[in-house]
Formats: sequence, C-alpha cells, structure tokens
Amino acid sequence: MWEIIQWVGIFGGFFILRGIIATMFFYYLLPDGDRCPSCNAVTLRVQSRVWSILMPRCRASWCYECGWHGLLRKGPLTPTATAGELTKHK
Ligand SMILES: [Zn+2]
Repeated sequence: MWEIIQWVGIFGGFFILRGIIATMFFYYLLPDGDRCPSCNAVTLRVQSRVWSILMPRCRASWCYECGWHGLLRKGPLTPTATAGELTKHK
C-alpha cells in the first residue's frame, strides 16, 4: 500500500510540476505590449471573461489588419494620437 502512495505522489508531483513549468515557459514566449506578432500592427483589446480569469496577466487581443487573435502579455502600449494632435497636423 505504501508503494502505491509513493508512486502516486511522485508521478502526480511530476505531472503537476510539468504543467507549471510549461505554463511559465509559454507565458514568457508571448510577446508583451499591444503589437501583433504576425504583422506588427497595433491590436485591439478583446474583453474575454474566461481569459481574464484563467490568465489575469495577459490580454486577449485581435488584430484588425491581418485577423490574428490571441493572448499578449501586458506591457507598454503604443501611444495613440488624440483628436487635438490629429487636427494640428492638418
Ligand atoms: Zn496582425
């Protein structure tokens, strides 16, 4: 009986540890900021209740230039021109 408990503890621990390490690895592979990884255009934030609960440090994004959608790490955002700046240059 003790061997079964040890086996479940060791392999269960490795299974959980593998999931934690894989999650951390792929989290740092995600690009940060708001740029599309496919075409480098500014993406739009998509409100997703599921992703905000599962991955609170990420933002669900959609690129309207190429149609890419996925998760990006929260990071620096691209500054956008305000209405006053747009009329100043005309
Ligand atoms: Zn794109």
